[in-house]
Amino acid sequence: MNKTLIVGADVGGTSVKYALVDAAGRQFRQGEIPTDPEDPAGTIERLAATVQDDLPGERRIAGVGLACAGIVSPQTGLLGRSPNLPGWENSDLAGAIRAAFGAVHQTVANDVNAALYGEYRFGAGRGCQHLVMIALGTGVGGGVLVDGTLLTGFADGAGEIGHMVLELDGAPCPCGNRGCLEAYCGSVGIVRRARELARGDGATDRWSAMVDARGDDLTTRDCYDLAVERDPTALALFAEVGRRLGQAVSSLVNVIAPDRLIVGGGVAQAGDLVLGPCREMVAAHVMSSAGQNTPVVLAELGPFAAAMGASALVTESGATP
Ligand SMILES: [Zn+2]
Repeated sequence: MNKTLIVGADVGGTSVKYALVDAAGRQFRQGEIPTDPEDPAGTIERLAATVQDDLPGERRIAGVGLACAGIVSPQTGLLGRSPNLPGWENSDLAGAIRAAFGAVHQTVANDVNAALYGEYRFGAGRGCQHLVMIALGTGVGGGVLVDGTLLTGFADGAGEIGHMVLELDGAPCPCGNRGCLEAYCGSVGIVRRARELARGDGATDRWSAMVDARGDDLTTRDCYDLAVERDPTALALFAEVGRRLGQAVSSLVNVIAPDRLIVGGGVAQAGDLVLGPCREMVAAHVMSSAGQNTPVVLAELGPFAAAMGASALVTESGATP
């Protein structure tokens, strides 16, 4: 019996999700520890200690795959710009893994790239060779896989799908620019638009009252709850989100021609309210007739996708004997 296990971990702004995975990709255990927003080395040390405690007696760790939000270089092991983890910017992730876990195989990757790789191996992208993933969360992340390989591009800058410009001088984006996909489809942008609709003339009384009552606590979930009850303003808002997503997806399909396009993240839970209008845009704006039918599907793996993908990346880099 193979006595080794792989650690796949995903560092987010508030927590590190990890999975212990065997050589066949079966998940042995999963868990979560808090992220110290100022201390990458300390956080990875605590991860190593926690994982050691979780390790069944006769097993040892053969490799560590670490996914992290931000611009991650798989070649150098360094983290560059990372808006969700500013205290981790310019840190040496590979060095921190070596210090905490010793001499094991290791791989680092951007979190959405890792999630995409997880979906490719174990989830919504199984059996495909060309995939695009868009993660609709607080921000909008992206990843591209071509011929089974993640596209990282020059200086690891590829995959920033959230900052495709859809509208010159459009809505403000958290990145400082205007009109990016994230400004329309990230939860910050959706909540901003929800308030804008409430201030306008066309909103339902119910919508305006809800936005007023929730005040600063307004979330996309509140908006979704009214959409489920068929409130016309809520439905219009999600249709708008879907069309903006469809604008980006159509361009991506025209450029990359993936087998499938995977949509994940919290906002994706709105399902067909967003994906319906998105698919209509794809049918109308994609050039190739085959591409017009590109399946736009929901991610399958849930919050541990990036941890699972990071484990697969390190396994395929040769971590298992
Ligand atoms: Zn932007």
